[in-house]
Amino acid sequence: MTTPTAPVTAQVRGREIPVDLYIGGAWTHAAETFSVVNPANGQTIAEVADGTVDQALAALDAAVAAQDAWRHVLPRERADLFHRAHRLLLQRADEIVETMTLESGKPLGEARGEFQLSADFFLWYAEQIAHLHGTYAHGSRGAYRIVTTHQPVGPCLLITPWNFPLLMIARKAGAALAAGCTVVVKSAKETPLTCALFVQTLHDAGFPAGVVNLVHTTTSSKVSAALMADSRLRKVSFTGSTGVGSTLLSQAAPNITNASMELGGDGPFIVLDDADLDLAAEQAIVCKFRNAGQACVAANRIIVDSRVAEEFTAKFVALTEKLKVGDGFDPDTEVGPIISARQRDTVKELVNGFSEIGATLLTGGKEIPGDGFFFEPTVFSVTEADDDLCHQELFAPIATIYTADSVAEAVKVANDTTYGLAAYVFTRNVDRAIAVSERLDFGMVGINRGIMADPAAAFGGIKASGLGREGGHEAIYEFLEPKYLAITVN
Ligand code: NAD
Repeated sequence: MTTPTAPVTAQVRGREIPVDLYIGGAWTHAAETFSVVNPANGQTIAEVADGTVDQALAALDAAVAAQDAWRHVLPRERADLFHRAHRLLLQRADEIVETMTLESGKPLGEARGEFQLSADFFLWYAEQIAHLHGTYAHGSRGAYRIVTTHQPVGPCLLITPWNFPLLMIARKAGAALAAGCTVVVKSAKETPLTCALFVQTLHDAGFPAGVVNLVHTTTSSKVSAALMADSRLRKVSFTGSTGVGSTLLSQAAPNITNASMELGGDGPFIVLDDADLDLAAEQAIVCKFRNAGQACVAANRIIVDSRVAEEFTAKFVALTEKLKVGDGFDPDTEVGPIISARQRDTVKELVNGFSEIGATLLTGGKEIPGDGFFFEPTVFSVTEADDDLCHQELFAPIATIYTADSVAEAVKVANDTTYGLAAYVFTRNVDRAIAVSERLDFGMVGINRGIMADPAAAFGGIKASGLGREGGHEAIYEFLEPKYLAITVN
Protein backbone atom coordinates (compact mmCIF):
# COMPACT_ATOMS: atom_id res chain seq x y z
CA MET A 1 0.00 0.00 0.00
CA THR A 2 1.22 3.49 -0.85
CA THR A 3 2.07 5.65 2.18
CA PRO A 4 -0.83 7.95 3.06
CA THR A 5 -0.05 11.67 2.80
CA ALA A 6 -2.09 14.86 2.44
CA PRO A 7 -4.80 14.35 -0.17
CA VAL A 8 -4.12 15.41 -3.68
CA THR A 9 -6.93 17.67 -4.77
CA ALA A 10 -8.14 19.13 -8.03
CA GLN A 11 -9.43 22.69 -8.37
CA VAL A 12 -12.93 22.28 -9.72
CA ARG A 13 -15.00 25.46 -10.18
CA GLY A 14 -12.81 27.15 -7.58
CA ARG A 15 -13.11 24.36 -5.01
CA GLU A 16 -10.66 21.65 -3.93
CA ILE A 17 -11.90 18.08 -4.44
CA PRO A 18 -9.83 15.07 -3.29
CA VAL A 19 -8.75 12.94 -6.23
CA ASP A 20 -6.99 10.21 -4.23
CA LEU A 21 -8.26 6.88 -3.05
CA TYR A 22 -9.55 6.76 0.52
CA ILE A 23 -8.21 3.75 2.41
CA GLY A 24 -8.23 3.12 6.15
CA GLY A 25 -9.20 6.72 6.91
CA ALA A 26 -6.40 8.27 4.80
CA TRP A 27 -6.34 9.77 1.32
CA THR A 28 -3.92 7.61 -0.62
CA HIS A 29 -2.10 8.32 -3.89
CA ALA A 30 -1.88 5.95 -6.84
CA ALA A 31 0.98 5.70 -9.32
CA GLU A 32 -1.30 6.26 -12.30
CA THR A 33 -4.19 8.63 -12.88
CA PHE A 34 -7.08 8.86 -15.34
CA SER A 35 -8.99 11.82 -16.75
CA VAL A 36 -12.54 12.72 -15.80
CA VAL A 37 -14.25 14.43 -18.71
CA ASN A 38 -17.08 16.96 -18.80
CA PRO A 39 -19.53 15.45 -21.34
CA ALA A 40 -20.92 18.91 -22.13
CA ASN A 41 -17.66 20.06 -23.74
CA GLY A 42 -15.28 17.07 -23.87
CA GLN A 43 -12.75 18.85 -21.62
CA THR A 44 -10.84 17.20 -18.78
CA ILE A 45 -12.07 18.27 -15.35
CA ALA A 46 -9.53 16.46 -13.19
CA GLU A 47 -6.96 13.68 -13.07
CA VAL A 48 -8.01 11.04 -10.54
CA ALA A 49 -6.03 8.25 -8.84
CA ASP A 50 -6.30 4.98 -10.76
CA GLY A 51 -6.43 2.35 -8.03
CA THR A 52 -4.71 -1.01 -8.47
CA VAL A 53 -5.74 -4.49 -7.36
CA ASP A 54 -3.29 -4.24 -4.44
CA GLN A 55 -4.82 -0.97 -3.32
CA ALA A 56 -8.33 -2.40 -3.56
CA LEU A 57 -7.19 -5.33 -1.41
CA ALA A 58 -5.66 -2.85 1.04
CA ALA A 59 -9.07 -1.16 1.20
CA LEU A 60 -10.63 -4.54 1.99
CA ASP A 61 -7.95 -5.12 4.69
CA ALA A 62 -9.02 -1.81 6.24
CA ALA A 63 -12.72 -2.69 6.04
CA VAL A 64 -12.07 -6.10 7.63
CA ALA A 65 -9.97 -4.55 10.39
CA ALA A 66 -12.67 -1.99 11.22
CA GLN A 67 -15.62 -4.40 11.03
CA ASP A 68 -15.72 -5.74 14.57
CA ALA A 69 -15.51 -2.35 16.29
CA TRP A 70 -18.04 -0.77 13.91
CA ARG A 71 -20.71 -3.41 14.48
CA HIS A 72 -20.46 -2.78 18.21
CA VAL A 73 -20.83 1.00 18.03
CA LEU A 74 -24.04 1.70 19.94
CA PRO A 75 -27.05 2.48 17.74
CA ARG A 76 -27.47 5.99 19.15
CA GLU A 77 -23.79 6.77 18.52
CA ARG A 78 -23.98 5.42 14.99
CA ALA A 79 -27.15 7.44 14.35
CA ASP A 80 -25.44 10.58 15.71
CA LEU A 81 -22.62 10.13 13.18
CA PHE A 82 -25.22 9.82 10.42
CA HIS A 83 -26.99 12.98 11.54
CA ARG A 84 -23.68 14.87 11.64
CA ALA A 85 -22.85 13.67 8.12
CA HIS A 86 -26.34 14.62 6.94
CA ARG A 87 -25.93 18.17 8.26
CA LEU A 88 -22.52 18.47 6.58
CA LEU A 89 -23.96 17.16 3.31
CA LEU A 90 -26.61 19.88 3.38
CA GLN A 91 -23.93 22.52 4.00
CA ARG A 92 -22.02 21.25 0.95
CA ALA A 93 -25.05 21.04 -1.33
CA ASP A 94 -23.87 23.56 -3.92
CA GLU A 95 -20.43 22.02 -4.27
CA ILE A 96 -21.82 18.51 -4.66
CA VAL A 97 -24.62 19.53 -7.04
CA GLU A 98 -22.25 21.45 -9.31
CA THR A 99 -19.74 18.60 -9.32
CA MET A 100 -22.47 16.19 -10.34
CA THR A 101 -23.51 18.42 -13.24
CA LEU A 102 -19.90 18.86 -14.29
CA GLU A 103 -18.97 15.18 -14.49
CA SER A 104 -22.31 13.55 -15.39
CA GLY A 105 -23.73 16.37 -17.53
CA LYS A 106 -27.15 16.33 -15.87
CA PRO A 107 -28.89 19.72 -15.67
CA LEU A 108 -28.47 21.59 -12.37
CA GLY A 109 -32.17 21.18 -11.54
CA GLU A 110 -31.91 17.40 -11.87
CA ALA A 111 -28.67 17.37 -9.88
CA ARG A 112 -30.42 19.34 -7.11
CA GLY A 113 -33.28 16.84 -7.12
CA GLU A 114 -30.81 13.95 -6.90
CA PHE A 115 -28.98 15.71 -4.06
CA GLN A 116 -32.19 16.18 -2.06
CA LEU A 117 -33.24 12.58 -2.59
CA SER A 118 -29.79 11.29 -1.60
CA ALA A 119 -29.75 13.38 1.58
CA ASP A 120 -33.27 12.13 2.36
CA PHE A 121 -32.15 8.51 1.91
CA PHE A 122 -29.25 9.08 4.28
CA LEU A 123 -31.58 10.66 6.84
CA TRP A 124 -34.06 7.80 6.46
CA TYR A 125 -31.33 5.27 7.28
CA ALA A 126 -30.19 7.38 10.25
CA GLU A 127 -33.73 7.23 11.57
CA GLN A 128 -33.88 3.44 11.18
CA ILE A 129 -30.72 2.69 13.17
CA ALA A 130 -32.30 3.00 16.60
CA HIS A 131 -35.35 1.02 15.49
CA LEU A 132 -33.71 -2.22 14.36
CA HIS A 133 -35.03 -4.97 16.56
CA GLY A 134 -35.62 -8.71 16.69
CA THR A 135 -38.39 -11.03 17.86
CA TYR A 136 -39.15 -13.30 20.80
CA ALA A 137 -41.18 -16.51 20.44
CA HIS A 138 -42.02 -19.75 22.21
CA GLY A 139 -40.42 -22.87 20.75
CA SER A 140 -43.12 -24.76 18.85
CA ARG A 141 -42.80 -28.05 20.77
CA GLY A 142 -40.29 -27.52 23.51
CA ALA A 143 -39.56 -25.77 26.78
CA TYR A 144 -37.47 -23.13 25.16
CA ARG A 145 -37.71 -19.64 23.73
CA ILE A 146 -36.46 -18.29 20.42
CA VAL A 147 -34.89 -14.85 20.32
CA THR A 148 -34.21 -13.68 16.78
CA THR A 149 -31.72 -10.93 16.33
CA HIS A 150 -29.72 -9.56 13.39
CA GLN A 151 -26.04 -9.17 12.76
CA PRO A 152 -24.23 -7.29 9.97
CA VAL A 153 -23.25 -9.48 7.01
CA GLY A 154 -19.70 -8.12 7.24
CA PRO A 155 -17.42 -6.15 4.91
CA CYS A 156 -19.19 -5.17 1.69
CA LEU A 157 -18.19 -4.14 -1.80
CA LEU A 158 -20.47 -1.41 -3.20
CA ILE A 159 -20.18 -0.86 -6.96
CA THR A 160 -21.93 2.23 -8.32
CA PRO A 161 -22.74 3.50 -11.83
CA TRP A 162 -22.28 7.02 -13.23
CA ASN A 163 -25.87 7.89 -14.05
CA PHE A 164 -26.89 8.77 -10.46
CA PRO A 165 -23.45 9.36 -8.94
CA LEU A 166 -24.61 10.62 -5.53
CA LEU A 167 -27.86 8.72 -5.10
CA MET A 168 -26.24 5.35 -5.72
CA ILE A 169 -23.44 5.77 -3.17
CA ALA A 170 -25.72 7.41 -0.57
CA ARG A 171 -28.40 4.72 -0.96
CA LYS A 172 -25.99 1.80 -0.74
CA ALA A 173 -23.48 3.11 1.79
CA GLY A 174 -26.28 4.52 3.96
CA ALA A 175 -27.98 1.14 4.29
CA ALA A 176 -24.75 -0.84 4.75
CA LEU A 177 -23.27 1.49 7.36
CA ALA A 178 -26.56 1.76 9.24
CA ALA A 179 -26.61 -2.03 9.45
CA GLY A 180 -23.12 -2.02 10.97
CA CYS A 181 -21.20 -3.18 7.91
CA THR A 182 -17.94 -1.67 6.74
CA VAL A 183 -17.62 -0.89 3.03
CA VAL A 184 -15.31 -0.60 0.07
CA VAL A 185 -16.96 1.64 -2.51
CA LYS A 186 -15.90 1.34 -6.13
CA SER A 187 -16.92 4.47 -8.00
CA ALA A 188 -17.71 4.65 -11.71
CA LYS A 189 -14.73 6.06 -13.62
CA GLU A 190 -16.94 8.72 -15.26
CA THR A 191 -18.09 10.23 -11.92
CA PRO A 192 -15.51 9.66 -9.17
CA LEU A 193 -15.54 13.26 -7.89
CA THR A 194 -19.10 13.16 -6.57
CA CYS A 195 -18.26 9.93 -4.70
CA ALA A 196 -15.11 11.59 -3.32
CA LEU A 197 -17.14 14.52 -1.94
CA PHE A 198 -19.59 12.12 -0.30
CA VAL A 199 -16.80 10.09 1.31
CA GLN A 200 -14.99 13.25 2.39
CA THR A 201 -18.21 14.29 4.14
CA LEU A 202 -18.36 11.00 6.06
CA HIS A 203 -14.68 11.45 6.97
CA ASP A 204 -15.30 14.99 8.24
CA ALA A 205 -18.35 13.79 10.20
CA GLY A 206 -16.06 11.42 12.09
CA PHE A 207 -16.80 7.97 10.66
CA PRO A 208 -13.94 5.83 12.05
CA ALA A 209 -10.97 4.85 9.87
CA GLY A 210 -11.61 1.78 7.72
CA VAL A 211 -15.41 1.90 8.02
CA VAL A 212 -15.70 3.58 4.61
CA ASN A 213 -13.12 3.11 1.87
CA LEU A 214 -13.19 4.44 -1.68
CA VAL A 215 -11.44 3.07 -4.74
CA HIS A 216 -11.49 4.65 -8.18
CA THR A 217 -10.10 2.57 -11.02
CA THR A 218 -10.10 2.10 -14.77
CA THR A 219 -9.66 -1.65 -14.30
CA SER A 220 -12.99 -2.43 -12.64
CA SER A 221 -13.20 -6.02 -13.79
CA LYS A 222 -9.74 -6.93 -12.40
CA VAL A 223 -10.22 -5.01 -9.17
CA SER A 224 -13.63 -6.42 -8.41
CA ALA A 225 -12.62 -9.97 -9.44
CA ALA A 226 -9.79 -9.81 -6.87
CA LEU A 227 -12.12 -8.51 -4.16
CA MET A 228 -14.82 -11.05 -4.99
CA ALA A 229 -12.27 -13.89 -4.78
CA ASP A 230 -11.41 -12.90 -1.20
CA SER A 231 -13.57 -14.81 1.26
CA ARG A 232 -13.34 -11.99 3.82
CA LEU A 233 -15.68 -9.99 1.58
CA ARG A 234 -19.19 -11.01 2.68
CA LYS A 235 -21.45 -9.02 0.38
CA VAL A 236 -21.51 -7.28 -2.98
CA SER A 237 -24.14 -4.64 -3.71
CA PHE A 238 -24.08 -3.65 -7.35
CA THR A 239 -25.95 -1.17 -9.52
CA GLY A 240 -25.29 -1.32 -13.21
CA SER A 241 -25.92 -3.40 -16.30
CA THR A 242 -27.40 -6.88 -16.21
CA GLY A 243 -24.33 -8.34 -17.96
CA VAL A 244 -21.91 -7.14 -15.27
CA GLY A 245 -24.40 -8.14 -12.55
CA SER A 246 -24.46 -11.66 -13.92
CA THR A 247 -20.63 -11.80 -13.93
CA LEU A 248 -20.56 -10.66 -10.30
CA LEU A 249 -23.13 -13.29 -9.32
CA SER A 250 -20.93 -16.00 -10.79
CA GLN A 251 -17.95 -14.54 -8.90
CA ALA A 252 -20.08 -14.61 -5.73
CA ALA A 253 -20.73 -18.34 -6.07
CA PRO A 254 -17.41 -19.84 -4.89
CA ASN A 255 -17.46 -18.07 -1.51
CA ILE A 256 -21.29 -17.98 -1.27
CA THR A 257 -20.98 -14.20 -1.05
CA ASN A 258 -24.25 -12.42 -0.35
CA ALA A 259 -25.36 -10.28 -3.31
CA SER A 260 -27.85 -7.50 -4.09
CA MET A 261 -28.27 -6.46 -7.70
CA GLU A 262 -29.95 -3.35 -9.10
CA LEU A 263 -29.72 -3.97 -12.83
CA GLY A 264 -31.14 -2.81 -16.13
CA GLY A 265 -34.75 -2.09 -17.01
CA ASP A 266 -37.13 -2.12 -19.97
CA GLY A 267 -39.90 -0.02 -18.44
CA PRO A 268 -43.29 -0.12 -20.15
CA PHE A 269 -45.29 3.12 -19.86
CA ILE A 270 -48.94 2.20 -20.46
CA VAL A 271 -51.49 4.86 -21.39
CA LEU A 272 -55.06 3.53 -21.29
CA ASP A 273 -57.94 5.07 -23.26
CA ASP A 274 -59.38 6.83 -20.18
CA ALA A 275 -56.08 8.42 -19.10
CA ASP A 276 -55.58 12.13 -18.55
CA LEU A 277 -53.53 12.51 -21.73
CA ASP A 278 -51.96 15.85 -20.76
CA LEU A 279 -50.72 14.35 -17.49
CA ALA A 280 -49.57 11.16 -19.25
CA ALA A 281 -47.64 13.10 -21.91
CA GLU A 282 -46.02 15.39 -19.34
CA GLN A 283 -45.01 12.46 -17.08
CA ALA A 284 -43.77 10.46 -20.09
CA ILE A 285 -41.44 13.35 -20.92
CA VAL A 286 -39.92 13.30 -17.42
CA CYS A 287 -39.81 9.51 -17.29
CA LYS A 288 -38.15 9.24 -20.71
CA PHE A 289 -35.86 12.24 -21.04
CA ARG A 290 -34.67 12.77 -17.46
CA ASN A 291 -30.91 12.23 -17.39
CA ALA A 292 -31.02 12.24 -21.22
CA GLY A 293 -32.79 8.87 -21.07
CA GLN A 294 -29.92 7.27 -19.16
CA ALA A 295 -31.95 5.88 -16.27
CA CYS A 296 -32.76 2.29 -15.37
CA VAL A 297 -36.38 3.21 -14.61
CA ALA A 298 -36.85 5.23 -17.82
CA ALA A 299 -39.93 4.64 -19.98
CA ASN A 300 -38.37 2.27 -22.50
CA ARG A 301 -41.57 1.45 -24.41
CA ILE A 302 -44.60 3.75 -24.37
CA ILE A 303 -47.66 1.54 -25.00
CA VAL A 304 -50.78 3.52 -25.85
CA ASP A 305 -54.36 2.37 -26.37
CA SER A 306 -54.93 2.71 -30.11
CA ARG A 307 -58.08 4.80 -29.51
CA VAL A 308 -56.04 7.63 -27.98
CA ALA A 309 -52.69 6.96 -29.65
CA GLU A 310 -52.92 9.80 -32.16
CA GLU A 311 -53.91 12.40 -29.57
CA PHE A 312 -51.32 11.23 -27.01
CA THR A 313 -48.56 11.08 -29.63
CA ALA A 314 -49.29 14.61 -30.86
CA LYS A 315 -49.07 15.97 -27.30
CA PHE A 316 -45.91 13.97 -26.50
CA VAL A 317 -44.10 14.99 -29.70
CA ALA A 318 -45.02 18.66 -29.16
CA LEU A 319 -43.56 18.56 -25.64
CA THR A 320 -40.46 16.71 -26.87
CA GLU A 321 -39.81 19.39 -29.49
CA LYS A 322 -39.91 22.09 -26.80
CA LEU A 323 -37.16 20.45 -24.70
CA LYS A 324 -34.04 22.57 -24.48
CA VAL A 325 -30.85 20.53 -24.91
CA GLY A 326 -27.60 22.01 -23.63
CA ASP A 327 -24.94 22.39 -20.98
CA GLY A 328 -26.37 21.48 -17.57
CA PHE A 329 -25.10 24.77 -16.12
CA ASP A 330 -27.39 26.77 -18.42
CA PRO A 331 -30.50 27.37 -16.28
CA ASP A 332 -32.75 26.83 -19.33
CA THR A 333 -31.36 23.39 -20.09
CA GLU A 334 -33.79 20.49 -19.69
CA VAL A 335 -31.78 17.71 -21.35
CA GLY A 336 -28.02 17.42 -20.88
CA PRO A 337 -25.41 15.50 -22.88
CA ILE A 338 -24.91 11.76 -23.28
CA ILE A 339 -22.21 10.54 -20.88
CA SER A 340 -19.50 9.89 -23.52
CA ALA A 341 -18.72 10.04 -27.23
CA ARG A 342 -18.81 6.23 -27.31
CA GLN A 343 -22.26 6.13 -25.74
CA ARG A 344 -23.46 8.77 -28.21
CA ASP A 345 -22.34 6.48 -31.04
CA THR A 346 -24.49 3.74 -29.47
CA VAL A 347 -27.46 6.14 -29.53
CA LYS A 348 -26.84 6.77 -33.25
CA GLU A 349 -26.77 3.03 -33.89
CA LEU A 350 -30.08 2.60 -32.07
CA VAL A 351 -31.68 5.32 -34.22
CA ASN A 352 -30.41 3.59 -37.38
CA GLY A 353 -31.70 0.27 -36.05
CA PHE A 354 -35.23 1.59 -35.50
CA SER A 355 -35.24 3.15 -38.97
CA GLU A 356 -34.14 -0.20 -40.45
CA ILE A 357 -37.04 -2.08 -38.86
CA GLY A 358 -39.50 0.41 -40.37
CA ALA A 359 -40.24 2.56 -37.32
CA THR A 360 -41.47 6.06 -38.18
CA LEU A 361 -39.26 8.90 -36.96
CA LEU A 362 -41.57 11.58 -35.53
CA THR A 363 -38.95 14.01 -34.27
CA GLY A 364 -35.21 14.27 -33.53
CA GLY A 365 -32.87 11.50 -34.63
CA LYS A 366 -29.60 13.42 -35.00
CA GLU A 367 -26.55 14.21 -32.94
CA ILE A 368 -25.96 17.88 -32.20
CA PRO A 369 -22.58 19.00 -33.55
CA GLY A 370 -20.02 20.51 -31.19
CA ASP A 371 -17.48 19.49 -28.57
CA GLY A 372 -20.07 18.03 -26.19
CA PHE A 373 -21.87 14.70 -26.64
CA PHE A 374 -25.38 15.96 -27.36
CA PHE A 375 -28.24 14.20 -29.11
CA GLU A 376 -31.70 15.42 -30.10
CA PRO A 377 -34.61 14.05 -28.04
CA THR A 378 -36.03 11.52 -30.45
CA VAL A 379 -39.44 9.89 -30.89
CA PHE A 380 -40.29 6.85 -33.00
CA SER A 381 -43.63 5.23 -33.65
CA VAL A 382 -42.97 1.48 -33.81
CA THR A 383 -45.19 -1.13 -35.45
CA GLU A 384 -42.70 -4.05 -35.64
CA ALA A 385 -42.59 -5.03 -31.95
CA ASP A 386 -40.94 -8.43 -32.42
CA ASP A 387 -37.44 -7.28 -33.28
CA ASP A 388 -34.76 -7.72 -30.58
CA LEU A 389 -34.31 -3.95 -30.65
CA CYS A 390 -37.78 -3.59 -29.13
CA HIS A 391 -36.76 -5.66 -26.11
CA GLN A 392 -33.48 -4.07 -25.20
CA GLU A 393 -32.81 -1.35 -22.67
CA LEU A 394 -32.25 1.79 -24.77
CA PHE A 395 -30.64 3.96 -22.09
CA ALA A 396 -30.88 6.86 -24.54
CA PRO A 397 -33.03 9.93 -25.31
CA ILE A 398 -35.08 7.83 -27.71
CA ALA A 399 -38.80 7.36 -27.01
CA THR A 400 -40.60 4.54 -28.79
CA ILE A 401 -44.41 4.50 -29.02
CA TYR A 402 -46.31 1.24 -29.56
CA THR A 403 -50.09 0.79 -29.73
CA ALA A 404 -52.37 -1.84 -28.18
CA ASP A 405 -56.02 -2.53 -28.98
CA SER A 406 -57.05 -3.62 -25.49
CA VAL A 407 -55.93 -3.56 -21.87
CA ALA A 408 -55.06 -7.25 -22.12
CA GLU A 409 -52.85 -6.62 -25.15
CA ALA A 410 -51.12 -3.67 -23.43
CA VAL A 411 -50.30 -5.88 -20.43
CA LYS A 412 -49.07 -8.69 -22.68
CA VAL A 413 -46.77 -6.36 -24.62
CA ALA A 414 -45.57 -4.76 -21.35
CA ASN A 415 -44.65 -8.14 -19.84
CA ASP A 416 -42.91 -9.36 -22.99
CA THR A 417 -39.42 -8.61 -21.67
CA THR A 418 -36.72 -10.35 -19.67
CA TYR A 419 -36.53 -7.30 -17.38
CA GLY A 420 -38.80 -6.45 -14.46
CA LEU A 421 -37.79 -3.15 -12.85
CA ALA A 422 -40.31 -0.29 -13.18
CA ALA A 423 -43.60 -0.07 -15.10
CA TYR A 424 -46.13 2.75 -15.35
CA VAL A 425 -49.86 2.87 -15.94
CA PHE A 426 -52.02 5.90 -16.69
CA THR A 427 -55.80 5.70 -16.25
CA ARG A 428 -58.49 7.67 -14.41
CA ASN A 429 -60.09 4.44 -13.17
CA VAL A 430 -58.63 3.14 -9.91
CA ASP A 431 -60.02 -0.39 -10.44
CA ARG A 432 -58.25 -0.63 -13.78
CA ALA A 433 -55.08 0.85 -12.29
CA ILE A 434 -54.98 -1.82 -9.60
CA ALA A 435 -55.97 -4.67 -11.92
CA VAL A 436 -53.29 -3.74 -14.45
CA SER A 437 -50.57 -3.14 -11.85
CA GLU A 438 -51.25 -6.56 -10.30
CA ARG A 439 -50.72 -8.21 -13.68
CA LEU A 440 -47.47 -6.41 -14.48
CA ASP A 441 -44.36 -8.54 -13.79
CA PHE A 442 -42.31 -5.69 -12.37
CA GLY A 443 -40.90 -4.77 -8.96
CA MET A 444 -42.41 -1.26 -9.04
CA VAL A 445 -45.43 0.29 -10.72
CA GLY A 446 -46.04 4.02 -11.00
CA ILE A 447 -49.74 4.84 -11.25
CA ASN A 448 -50.34 8.20 -12.91
CA ARG A 449 -46.74 9.17 -12.11
CA GLY A 450 -43.47 8.76 -13.95
CA ILE A 451 -41.03 9.21 -11.05
CA MET A 452 -41.04 6.89 -8.08
CA ALA A 453 -37.80 6.71 -6.03
CA ASP A 454 -38.42 7.49 -2.36
CA PRO A 455 -36.45 6.65 0.79
CA ALA A 456 -39.54 5.03 2.31
CA ALA A 457 -40.08 2.74 -0.71
CA ALA A 458 -38.40 -0.58 -1.46
CA PHE A 459 -36.75 0.18 -4.80
CA GLY A 460 -35.77 -2.79 -6.97
CA GLY A 461 -36.64 -5.23 -9.68
CA ILE A 462 -37.35 -8.85 -10.51
CA LYS A 463 -36.19 -11.17 -13.33
CA ALA A 464 -33.13 -9.76 -15.16
CA SER A 465 -33.52 -6.46 -13.28
CA GLY A 466 -32.03 -7.79 -10.11
CA LEU A 467 -32.19 -9.16 -6.60
CA GLY A 468 -32.89 -7.28 -3.39
CA ARG A 469 -34.22 -3.82 -2.56
CA GLU A 470 -32.80 -0.40 -1.74
CA GLY A 471 -34.87 1.94 0.44
CA GLY A 472 -37.81 1.27 2.70
CA HIS A 473 -37.52 -0.90 5.80
CA GLU A 474 -36.22 -3.67 3.57
CA ALA A 475 -32.96 -1.93 2.64
CA ILE A 476 -31.06 -2.28 5.89
CA TYR A 477 -32.06 -5.93 6.18
CA GLU A 478 -30.21 -6.52 2.90
CA PHE A 479 -27.07 -5.94 4.97
CA LEU A 480 -28.13 -7.94 8.04
CA GLU A 481 -28.32 -11.68 8.68
CA PRO A 482 -30.92 -13.06 11.04
CA LYS A 483 -29.52 -15.10 13.90
CA TYR A 484 -31.53 -16.84 16.57
CA LEU A 485 -30.82 -17.98 20.06
CA ALA A 486 -32.71 -21.04 21.36
CA ILE A 487 -32.90 -20.66 25.14
CA THR A 488 -33.88 -23.49 27.45
CA VAL A 489 -36.51 -22.42 29.97
CA ASN A 490 -37.26 -25.03 32.64
P1 NAD B 1 -21.98 -0.92 -16.05
O1 NAD B 1 -22.51 -2.23 -15.64
O2 NAD B 1 -21.12 -0.86 -17.25
O3 NAD B 1 -21.12 -0.27 -14.87
C1 NAD B 1 -21.61 -0.14 -13.56
C2 NAD B 1 -20.45 -0.19 -12.60
O4 NAD B 1 -19.82 -1.46 -12.73
C3 NAD B 1 -19.36 0.85 -12.87
O5 NAD B 1 -18.80 1.23 -11.63
C4 NAD B 1 -18.33 0.06 -13.67
O6 NAD B 1 -17.03 0.57 -13.55
C5 NAD B 1 -18.43 -1.30 -13.01
N1 NAD B 1 -18.01 -2.42 -13.84
C6 NAD B 1 -17.97 -2.52 -15.19
N2 NAD B 1 -17.55 -3.75 -15.55
C7 NAD B 1 -17.31 -4.44 -14.41
C8 NAD B 1 -16.88 -5.77 -14.12
N3 NAD B 1 -16.59 -6.64 -15.10
N4 NAD B 1 -16.78 -6.14 -12.83
C9 NAD B 1 -17.09 -5.27 -11.84
N5 NAD B 1 -17.49 -4.01 -12.05
C10 NAD B 1 -17.61 -3.60 -13.32
O7 NAD B 1 -23.25 0.03 -16.19
P2 NAD B 1 -23.26 1.57 -16.55
O8 NAD B 1 -23.15 1.71 -18.02
O9 NAD B 1 -22.33 2.35 -15.72
O10 NAD B 1 -24.73 1.92 -16.04
C11 NAD B 1 -25.81 1.67 -16.82
C12 NAD B 1 -26.56 0.43 -16.39
O11 NAD B 1 -26.87 0.50 -15.00
C13 NAD B 1 -27.89 0.34 -17.09
O12 NAD B 1 -28.14 -0.98 -17.48
C14 NAD B 1 -28.87 0.79 -16.03
O13 NAD B 1 -30.16 0.32 -16.22
C15 NAD B 1 -28.25 0.25 -14.80
N6 NAD B 1 -28.75 0.96 -13.61
C16 NAD B 1 -29.60 0.30 -12.79
C17 NAD B 1 -30.13 0.95 -11.69
C18 NAD B 1 -31.08 0.25 -10.77
O14 NAD B 1 -31.27 0.74 -9.67
N7 NAD B 1 -31.65 -0.87 -11.15
C19 NAD B 1 -29.79 2.28 -11.42
C20 NAD B 1 -28.90 2.93 -12.29
C21 NAD B 1 -28.39 2.24 -13.38
